[in-house]
Amino acid sequence: MNTLRINKQRLWDSLMEMAQFGATEKGGCNRLAATALDGQARDLFVSWCKAAGCTISIDKMGNIFARRAGKNNDLPAVVTGSHLDTQPTGGKFDGVFGVLAGVEVLRTLHENNIETNAPFEFSVWTNEEGSRFAPAMQGSGVYVGRFDLETELNKTDVDGLVLRDELKKIGYLGDEEPGSRNIGAFFETHIEQGPILEDEDTEIGVVRLGQGIRWYNITCTGRESHAGTTPMHLRYDAMATAALIVAEIENIAHRNPPNGLGTVGFMEVYPNSRNTIPGTVKFSADLRNPDPDILKSMDDQLQSFCQQLAEKRNLDIEVDHFWYFAPVKFSASENVKIAAKKLGYSHMDIYAGAGHDACYMADIVPSGMVFTPCKDGISHNEIESTTEEQCEAGCNVLMHAMLEASENMTMK
Ligand SMILES: [Zn+2]
Repeated sequence: MNTLRINKQRLWDSLMEMAQFGATEKGGCNRLAATALDGQARDLFVSWCKAAGCTISIDKMGNIFARRAGKNNDLPAVVTGSHLDTQPTGGKFDGVFGVLAGVEVLRTLHENNIETNAPFEFSVWTNEEGSRFAPAMQGSGVYVGRFDLETELNKTDVDGLVLRDELKKIGYLGDEEPGSRNIGAFFETHIEQGPILEDEDTEIGVVRLGQGIRWYNITCTGRESHAGTTPMHLRYDAMATAALIVAEIENIAHRNPPNGLGTVGFMEVYPNSRNTIPGTVKFSADLRNPDPDILKSMDDQLQSFCQQLAEKRNLDIEVDHFWYFAPVKFSASENVKIAAKKLGYSHMDIYAGAGHDACYMADIVPSGMVFTPCKDGISHNEIESTTEEQCEAGCNVLMHAMLEASENMTMK
């Protein structure tokens, strides 16, 4: 078993074949969730899994599970998977690599007639990208109970088309209850979507933590007045106040290295006129850190800065902290590390900056993530790129992490 390796060429060919569904001129993919193209991609996945001896189940959220029996089929399954949907200007690897790495593990086990201890399952999660229907990671979110099934199925796209109908149209509105499968561990292989592994010249990222996120709407309310007739000391300038907060958000991130991040990406100015001092400025704030305590302290720093600034400038600053996504712990990533070490790949601990289906699966089962480098750290872009060797390494690590988890699997 220790000498077992995946087939690099077959994995690459599968990636290229899948990329034809929604292929763009610039070499990327436009395959939005639950479109006809997504349906074709799903059909190909299902046919590949059936050809390698799997039985297929589809749940009410359109999530697909291809099951390969093991020695002891009462044991919880070792599951891997990711998503086949892409951004409108997406690449060939985000998500797809995680799904097809699973297919390649399946094929390798199948052709070598390997009977694993626990059953293996290969999954495709509906609408991970959140591009056509909001929110992101919708299928896995419903599976683990973070979102309500009916609410999500009734979501509409920009044309008013309903997710339930769209899934039905492509043949993937199943009847299994989401969350009802017997799963013991979940693994997801994914391109890093960032520059760290490439920068460190490292083949495998052992993902230990998933980014925690705090989202805010901040409103500064001052008073509109004439830009030419209002002396500086008599102004209540909402924009100048907002600018100080924007700068402070960057400072907060810098004060919490190496993982602190702070972003203001959206702003509305009222009345938005060249010669009127702005009376109201509304903007977003996004603070991130994989450490829950540091993220809380970043929150405290922002809140107290805004409070003091409001007093100093004698105007109103409302900080609406409306969303908190707790950092994720990937407790099965030790299996990933053991596998990387055994196979002789260079590896390092890393955290996931973006959301992934595995972040939600970590709610209900020990989960692990394998990251592989991507060129210049670029993703959500048609030029997203990686190499056959980088995919090969990630897929071999996935297979051995799954085998390791399978050997140690016990009854729930
Ligand atoms: Zn993805």
